[in-house]
Amino acid sequence: MSEPLIDPFQRAVTYLRVSVTDRCDFRCVYCMSENMSFLPKKELLTLEELDRMCTAFIGLGVRKLRITGGEPLVRRGIMTFFDSMTRHLDSGALDELTLTTNGSQLGRFAEDLARAGVRRVNVSLDTLDEEKFARVTRWGRLKQVLGGIDAAQKAGLRIKINAVALKGFNEDELFTMTEWCASRDMDMTWIEVMPMGDMGDTDRIGQYWALTDARAQLAKRYTLTDLAERSGGPARYVRLEESGQKVGFITPLSHNFCESCNRVRLTCTGELYMCLGQEDMADLRAPLRDHPDSDEALVAAIRKAISLKPKGHDFDYSRQDVSGQMSRHMSHTGG
Ligand code: SAM
Ligand code: SF4
Repeated sequence: MSEPLIDPFQRAVTYLRVSVTDRCDFRCVYCMSENMSFLPKKELLTLEELDRMCTAFIGLGVRKLRITGGEPLVRRGIMTFFDSMTRHLDSGALDELTLTTNGSQLGRFAEDLARAGVRRVNVSLDTLDEEKFARVTRWGRLKQVLGGIDAAQKAGLRIKINAVALKGFNEDELFTMTEWCASRDMDMTWIEVMPMGDMGDTDRIGQYWALTDARAQLAKRYTLTDLAERSGGPARYVRLEESGQKVGFITPLSHNFCESCNRVRLTCTGELYMCLGQEDMADLRAPLRDHPDSDEALVAAIRKAISLKPKGHDFDYSRQDVSGQMSRHMSHTGG
Protein backbone atom coordinates (compact mmCIF):
# COMPACT_ATOMS: atom_id res chain seq x y z
CA MET A 1 0.00 0.00 0.00
CA SER A 2 1.45 3.38 -0.95
CA GLU A 3 1.84 6.25 1.53
CA PRO A 4 -1.51 7.94 2.31
CA LEU A 5 -2.13 11.55 1.36
CA ILE A 6 -1.38 13.75 4.39
CA ASP A 7 -1.36 17.54 4.02
CA PRO A 8 0.99 19.98 5.80
CA PHE A 9 -1.53 20.39 8.63
CA GLN A 10 -1.61 16.62 9.29
CA ARG A 11 -5.05 16.21 7.73
CA ALA A 12 -5.48 12.93 5.82
CA VAL A 13 -7.13 13.43 2.43
CA THR A 14 -9.61 10.57 2.06
CA TYR A 15 -12.48 12.25 0.24
CA LEU A 16 -12.50 13.28 -3.43
CA ARG A 17 -15.27 15.31 -4.99
CA VAL A 18 -15.35 15.15 -8.75
CA SER A 19 -17.14 17.59 -10.99
CA VAL A 20 -17.88 15.63 -14.17
CA THR A 21 -19.36 18.51 -16.16
CA ASP A 22 -19.72 22.27 -15.88
CA ARG A 23 -23.09 22.12 -17.65
CA CYS A 24 -26.49 22.07 -16.04
CA ASP A 25 -30.16 21.98 -16.96
CA PHE A 26 -30.89 24.61 -14.27
CA ARG A 27 -29.55 28.13 -13.77
CA CYS A 28 -29.84 28.64 -10.01
CA VAL A 29 -29.51 32.33 -9.24
CA TYR A 30 -26.75 31.92 -6.61
CA CYS A 31 -24.76 29.49 -8.78
CA MET A 32 -24.87 30.57 -12.43
CA SER A 33 -25.67 33.58 -14.50
CA GLU A 34 -28.41 33.08 -17.06
CA ASN A 35 -26.04 33.22 -20.02
CA MET A 36 -23.23 30.97 -18.95
CA SER A 37 -20.54 30.02 -21.42
CA PHE A 38 -19.42 26.44 -21.05
CA LEU A 39 -16.16 24.67 -21.75
CA PRO A 40 -15.44 23.18 -25.15
CA LYS A 41 -15.67 19.39 -25.10
CA LYS A 42 -11.99 18.75 -25.76
CA GLU A 43 -11.15 20.48 -22.49
CA LEU A 44 -13.12 17.91 -20.51
CA LEU A 45 -11.64 14.74 -19.15
CA THR A 46 -13.14 11.81 -21.01
CA LEU A 47 -15.03 9.19 -19.00
CA GLU A 48 -11.96 6.92 -19.30
CA GLU A 49 -9.71 9.71 -18.03
CA LEU A 50 -12.07 10.35 -15.12
CA ASP A 51 -11.86 6.67 -14.28
CA ARG A 52 -8.04 6.74 -14.35
CA MET A 53 -7.92 9.86 -12.23
CA CYS A 54 -10.33 8.50 -9.57
CA THR A 55 -8.59 5.13 -9.55
CA ALA A 56 -5.24 6.85 -8.88
CA PHE A 57 -6.75 8.73 -5.91
CA ILE A 58 -8.31 5.55 -4.56
CA GLY A 59 -4.88 3.91 -4.81
CA LEU A 60 -3.61 6.75 -2.60
CA GLY A 61 -6.17 6.16 0.14
CA VAL A 62 -9.29 8.04 -0.97
CA ARG A 63 -12.26 6.12 0.54
CA LYS A 64 -15.16 8.31 -0.51
CA LEU A 65 -16.03 9.63 -3.93
CA ARG A 66 -18.73 12.21 -4.53
CA ILE A 67 -19.74 12.93 -8.11
CA THR A 68 -21.02 16.42 -8.74
CA GLY A 69 -20.99 19.20 -11.32
CA GLY A 70 -22.68 21.22 -12.88
CA GLU A 71 -25.40 18.63 -12.97
CA PRO A 72 -23.61 15.25 -13.01
CA LEU A 73 -26.58 13.38 -14.48
CA VAL A 74 -26.62 15.51 -17.66
CA ARG A 75 -23.10 14.35 -18.63
CA ARG A 76 -23.55 11.98 -21.56
CA GLY A 77 -22.69 8.37 -20.71
CA ILE A 78 -22.24 9.11 -17.02
CA MET A 79 -23.70 5.74 -16.01
CA THR A 80 -20.74 4.05 -17.70
CA PHE A 81 -18.52 5.93 -15.29
CA PHE A 82 -20.62 4.98 -12.24
CA ASP A 83 -20.64 1.36 -13.40
CA SER A 84 -16.86 1.39 -13.74
CA MET A 85 -16.43 2.72 -10.19
CA THR A 86 -18.45 -0.20 -8.81
CA ARG A 87 -15.32 -2.36 -8.98
CA HIS A 88 -13.69 -0.24 -6.27
CA LEU A 89 -16.69 -0.76 -3.98
CA ASP A 90 -16.62 -4.48 -4.71
CA SER A 91 -12.90 -4.72 -3.92
CA GLY A 92 -13.36 -2.84 -0.63
CA ALA A 93 -10.97 -0.06 -1.72
CA LEU A 94 -13.81 2.47 -1.68
CA ASP A 95 -16.29 2.88 1.19
CA GLU A 96 -18.75 5.11 -0.59
CA LEU A 97 -19.74 6.20 -4.08
CA THR A 98 -22.26 8.98 -4.01
CA LEU A 99 -23.48 12.08 -5.83
CA THR A 100 -24.96 15.53 -5.42
CA THR A 101 -27.69 16.29 -7.91
CA ASN A 102 -30.48 18.74 -8.58
CA GLY A 103 -32.74 15.69 -8.89
CA SER A 104 -34.11 16.49 -12.35
CA GLN A 105 -32.78 13.27 -13.91
CA LEU A 106 -33.28 10.91 -10.98
CA GLY A 107 -36.45 9.56 -12.52
CA ARG A 108 -34.30 8.18 -15.36
CA PHE A 109 -31.27 7.07 -13.41
CA ALA A 110 -32.25 6.15 -9.83
CA GLU A 111 -32.39 2.41 -10.44
CA ASP A 112 -29.13 2.35 -12.42
CA LEU A 113 -27.41 4.30 -9.66
CA ALA A 114 -28.63 1.87 -7.01
CA ARG A 115 -27.42 -1.02 -9.18
CA ALA A 116 -23.98 0.61 -9.46
CA GLY A 117 -23.68 0.59 -5.65
CA VAL A 118 -24.78 4.14 -4.82
CA ARG A 119 -26.60 4.08 -1.47
CA ARG A 120 -27.08 7.74 -0.61
CA VAL A 121 -27.80 10.78 -2.73
CA ASN A 122 -27.80 14.47 -1.87
CA VAL A 123 -30.58 16.33 -3.65
CA SER A 124 -30.45 20.12 -3.74
CA LEU A 125 -33.85 21.66 -3.16
CA ASP A 126 -34.36 25.14 -1.76
CA THR A 127 -38.14 25.46 -1.69
CA LEU A 128 -41.32 23.39 -1.92
CA ASP A 129 -43.23 26.18 -3.63
CA GLU A 130 -43.55 25.72 -7.40
CA GLU A 131 -43.38 29.37 -8.28
CA LYS A 132 -40.43 30.06 -5.99
CA PHE A 133 -38.67 26.97 -7.32
CA ALA A 134 -39.04 28.23 -10.89
CA ARG A 135 -37.69 31.61 -9.79
CA VAL A 136 -34.61 30.33 -7.93
CA THR A 137 -33.61 27.69 -10.52
CA ARG A 138 -34.70 29.86 -13.49
CA TRP A 139 -35.13 26.74 -15.70
CA GLY A 140 -36.25 24.04 -13.27
CA ARG A 141 -39.63 22.44 -12.62
CA LEU A 142 -40.42 21.36 -9.08
CA LYS A 143 -42.65 18.45 -10.16
CA GLN A 144 -39.83 16.82 -12.06
CA VAL A 145 -37.53 16.99 -9.02
CA LEU A 146 -40.19 15.64 -6.66
CA GLY A 147 -40.76 12.79 -9.14
CA GLY A 148 -37.01 12.14 -9.12
CA ILE A 149 -36.98 11.97 -5.32
CA ASP A 150 -39.87 9.49 -5.41
CA ALA A 151 -38.01 7.33 -7.91
CA ALA A 152 -34.83 7.43 -5.84
CA GLN A 153 -36.61 6.39 -2.66
CA LYS A 154 -38.38 3.63 -4.56
CA ALA A 155 -34.99 2.38 -5.76
CA GLY A 156 -33.87 2.21 -2.12
CA LEU A 157 -31.56 5.23 -2.20
CA ARG A 158 -31.30 7.23 1.00
CA ILE A 159 -31.87 10.93 0.32
CA LYS A 160 -30.51 13.98 2.05
CA ILE A 161 -31.97 17.32 1.05
CA ASN A 162 -29.57 20.27 0.79
CA ALA A 163 -31.10 23.73 0.82
CA VAL A 164 -29.22 26.96 0.34
CA ALA A 165 -30.40 29.39 3.02
CA LEU A 166 -31.52 32.58 1.30
CA LYS A 167 -32.68 35.61 3.19
CA GLY A 168 -36.22 36.65 2.37
CA PHE A 169 -36.62 33.63 0.11
CA ASN A 170 -36.88 30.40 2.09
CA GLU A 171 -36.63 31.60 5.69
CA ASP A 172 -40.39 31.15 5.93
CA GLU A 173 -40.08 27.50 4.85
CA LEU A 174 -37.79 26.43 7.68
CA PHE A 175 -40.54 24.48 9.44
CA THR A 176 -42.42 23.32 6.32
CA MET A 177 -39.28 21.85 4.82
CA THR A 178 -38.19 20.30 8.12
CA GLU A 179 -41.57 18.61 8.52
CA TRP A 180 -41.68 17.49 4.89
CA CYS A 181 -38.27 15.86 5.23
CA ALA A 182 -39.33 14.14 8.47
CA SER A 183 -42.49 12.82 6.83
CA ARG A 184 -40.39 11.22 4.06
CA ASP A 185 -37.61 10.00 6.35
CA MET A 186 -34.99 12.25 4.78
CA ASP A 187 -32.24 14.13 6.55
CA MET A 188 -31.71 17.73 5.68
CA THR A 189 -28.86 20.21 5.60
CA TRP A 190 -28.98 23.97 5.27
CA ILE A 191 -26.05 25.68 3.55
CA GLU A 192 -25.05 29.31 3.93
CA VAL A 193 -24.74 31.00 0.57
CA MET A 194 -21.11 31.47 -0.45
CA PRO A 195 -19.60 34.20 -2.62
CA MET A 196 -18.75 31.97 -5.60
CA GLY A 197 -18.70 33.39 -9.11
CA ASP A 198 -19.45 36.85 -10.35
CA MET A 199 -23.24 37.19 -10.59
CA GLY A 200 -23.37 40.68 -11.97
CA ASP A 201 -25.91 42.53 -9.91
CA THR A 202 -26.74 39.71 -7.46
CA ASP A 203 -26.65 41.11 -3.94
CA ARG A 204 -24.54 38.62 -1.95
CA ILE A 205 -24.91 40.27 1.44
CA GLY A 206 -28.65 40.69 0.89
CA GLN A 207 -28.88 36.92 0.16
CA TYR A 208 -27.05 35.88 3.30
CA TRP A 209 -29.20 34.25 5.98
CA ALA A 210 -27.00 33.24 8.92
CA LEU A 211 -27.80 29.74 10.07
CA THR A 212 -27.30 30.64 13.71
CA ASP A 213 -30.71 32.27 13.24
CA ALA A 214 -32.25 29.15 11.63
CA ARG A 215 -31.01 27.08 14.53
CA ALA A 216 -32.41 29.52 17.08
CA GLN A 217 -35.81 29.37 15.37
CA LEU A 218 -35.83 25.57 15.31
CA ALA A 219 -34.98 25.58 19.00
CA LYS A 220 -38.23 27.47 19.72
CA ARG A 221 -40.29 24.54 18.45
CA TYR A 222 -38.04 21.50 18.94
CA THR A 223 -35.63 20.18 21.54
CA LEU A 224 -32.24 20.19 19.80
CA THR A 225 -29.43 17.83 20.72
CA ASP A 226 -26.00 18.53 19.23
CA LEU A 227 -24.53 15.48 17.57
CA ALA A 228 -20.80 14.87 17.71
CA GLU A 229 -20.87 13.10 14.35
CA ARG A 230 -19.34 15.05 11.48
CA SER A 231 -19.70 12.48 8.63
CA GLY A 232 -16.30 13.65 7.42
CA GLY A 233 -17.76 16.92 6.20
CA PRO A 234 -18.31 20.50 7.20
CA ALA A 235 -21.90 20.06 8.40
CA ARG A 236 -22.69 20.20 12.11
CA TYR A 237 -25.77 18.19 12.99
CA VAL A 238 -28.50 18.42 15.58
CA ARG A 239 -31.21 15.88 16.30
CA LEU A 240 -34.76 17.14 16.72
CA GLU A 241 -35.91 15.04 19.66
CA GLU A 242 -39.61 15.33 18.82
CA SER A 243 -39.23 13.86 15.30
CA GLY A 244 -35.90 12.07 15.66
CA GLN A 245 -34.67 13.62 12.42
CA LYS A 246 -31.20 14.99 11.80
CA VAL A 247 -30.71 18.55 10.58
CA GLY A 248 -27.29 19.80 9.45
CA PHE A 249 -25.88 23.28 9.09
CA ILE A 250 -23.00 24.15 6.77
CA THR A 251 -21.74 27.48 7.96
CA PRO A 252 -18.62 28.56 6.15
CA LEU A 253 -19.33 32.16 7.07
CA SER A 254 -20.60 32.10 10.61
CA HIS A 255 -18.37 29.22 11.67
CA ASN A 256 -15.12 28.13 10.13
CA PHE A 257 -14.78 24.35 9.73
CA CYS A 258 -11.43 24.02 7.99
CA GLU A 259 -9.55 22.31 10.80
CA SER A 260 -11.19 18.96 10.02
CA CYS A 261 -11.11 19.23 6.22
CA ASN A 262 -10.39 15.85 4.59
CA ARG A 263 -11.28 16.64 0.99
CA VAL A 264 -10.05 17.93 -2.33
CA ARG A 265 -11.97 18.73 -5.50
CA LEU A 266 -11.29 17.71 -9.07
CA THR A 267 -12.85 19.72 -11.87
CA CYS A 268 -14.09 18.27 -15.13
CA THR A 269 -10.94 19.60 -16.83
CA GLY A 270 -8.60 17.85 -14.39
CA GLU A 271 -7.72 20.76 -12.14
CA LEU A 272 -7.36 19.83 -8.50
CA TYR A 273 -8.56 22.45 -6.04
CA MET A 274 -7.14 21.86 -2.60
CA CYS A 275 -9.66 24.27 -1.01
CA LEU A 276 -13.06 25.44 -2.24
CA GLY A 277 -12.33 28.93 -0.95
CA GLN A 278 -8.85 29.50 -2.40
CA GLU A 279 -7.58 29.97 -5.93
CA ASP A 280 -4.68 27.48 -5.59
CA MET A 281 -5.00 24.54 -7.92
CA ALA A 282 -2.88 21.96 -9.66
CA ASP A 283 -3.26 20.75 -13.22
CA LEU A 284 -3.54 16.96 -13.23
CA ARG A 285 -4.70 16.66 -16.84
CA ALA A 286 -1.24 17.26 -18.31
CA PRO A 287 0.53 14.50 -16.33
CA LEU A 288 -2.42 12.21 -17.10
CA ARG A 289 -2.52 12.90 -20.86
CA ASP A 290 1.24 13.13 -21.34
CA HIS A 291 1.75 9.67 -19.84
CA PRO A 292 -1.00 7.41 -21.11
CA ASP A 293 0.76 4.22 -20.00
CA SER A 294 1.97 5.13 -16.53
CA ASP A 295 0.47 6.89 -13.51
CA GLU A 296 3.85 7.77 -12.03
CA ALA A 297 3.78 11.43 -13.10
CA LEU A 298 0.11 11.73 -12.12
CA VAL A 299 0.73 10.35 -8.63
CA ALA A 300 3.71 12.69 -8.18
CA ALA A 301 1.54 15.65 -9.23
CA ILE A 302 -1.21 14.60 -6.79
CA ARG A 303 1.29 14.32 -3.93
CA LYS A 304 2.80 17.70 -4.74
CA ALA A 305 -0.68 19.28 -4.81
CA ILE A 306 -1.60 17.82 -1.42
CA SER A 307 1.64 19.19 0.03
CA LEU A 308 0.29 22.64 -0.91
CA LYS A 309 -3.20 22.28 0.60
CA PRO A 310 -3.90 25.58 2.36
CA LYS A 311 -5.03 25.83 5.96
CA GLY A 312 -8.46 27.23 5.13
CA HIS A 313 -10.68 29.65 3.28
CA ASP A 314 -11.06 33.39 3.82
CA PHE A 315 -14.79 33.96 3.21
CA ASP A 316 -15.93 36.71 5.52
CA TYR A 317 -19.00 38.96 5.52
CA SER A 318 -18.38 40.34 8.98
CA ARG A 319 -17.33 43.79 7.81
CA GLN A 320 -20.50 44.19 5.71
CA ASP A 321 -18.34 43.71 2.67
CA VAL A 322 -17.89 40.48 0.75
CA SER A 323 -14.30 39.47 1.22
CA GLY A 324 -12.70 36.23 0.13
CA GLN A 325 -14.99 36.30 -2.93
CA MET A 326 -14.07 33.68 -5.55
CA SER A 327 -14.28 34.46 -9.23
CA ARG A 328 -14.93 30.75 -9.90
CA HIS A 329 -18.51 29.58 -10.11
CA MET A 330 -19.60 26.81 -7.75
CA SER A 331 -20.48 24.67 -10.79
CA HIS A 332 -16.79 24.75 -11.76
CA THR A 333 -15.50 23.11 -8.58
CA GLY A 334 -18.66 21.22 -7.79
CA GLY A 335 -19.78 22.73 -4.48
N1 SAM B 1 -26.16 20.43 -9.78
C1 SAM B 1 -25.99 19.68 -8.57
C2 SAM B 1 -26.85 20.24 -7.46
O1 SAM B 1 -27.38 21.34 -7.61
O2 SAM B 1 -26.97 19.55 -6.46
C3 SAM B 1 -24.56 19.57 -8.11
C4 SAM B 1 -23.68 20.77 -8.23
S1 SAM B 1 -24.14 22.18 -7.24
C5 SAM B 1 -22.91 23.35 -7.68
C6 SAM B 1 -23.69 21.62 -5.63
C7 SAM B 1 -24.28 22.37 -4.46
O3 SAM B 1 -23.74 23.67 -4.43
C8 SAM B 1 -25.79 22.55 -4.52
O4 SAM B 1 -26.36 22.06 -3.32
C9 SAM B 1 -25.98 24.04 -4.62
O5 SAM B 1 -27.14 24.46 -3.98
C10 SAM B 1 -24.74 24.56 -3.97
N2 SAM B 1 -24.37 25.90 -4.35
C11 SAM B 1 -24.24 26.43 -5.59
N3 SAM B 1 -23.84 27.73 -5.53
C12 SAM B 1 -23.72 28.02 -4.21
C13 SAM B 1 -23.34 29.19 -3.48
N4 SAM B 1 -23.01 30.32 -4.09
N5 SAM B 1 -23.33 29.11 -2.12
C14 SAM B 1 -23.66 27.98 -1.47
N6 SAM B 1 -24.03 26.84 -2.09
C15 SAM B 1 -24.06 26.87 -3.45
FE1 SF4 C 1 -27.08 23.63 -11.65
FE2 SF4 C 1 -26.60 22.71 -9.22
FE3 SF4 C 1 -25.69 25.13 -9.97
FE4 SF4 C 1 -28.27 24.81 -9.62
S1 SF4 C 1 -26.70 24.61 -8.03
S2 SF4 C 1 -27.30 25.81 -11.40
S3 SF4 C 1 -28.59 22.74 -10.25
S4 SF4 C 1 -25.07 23.20 -10.79
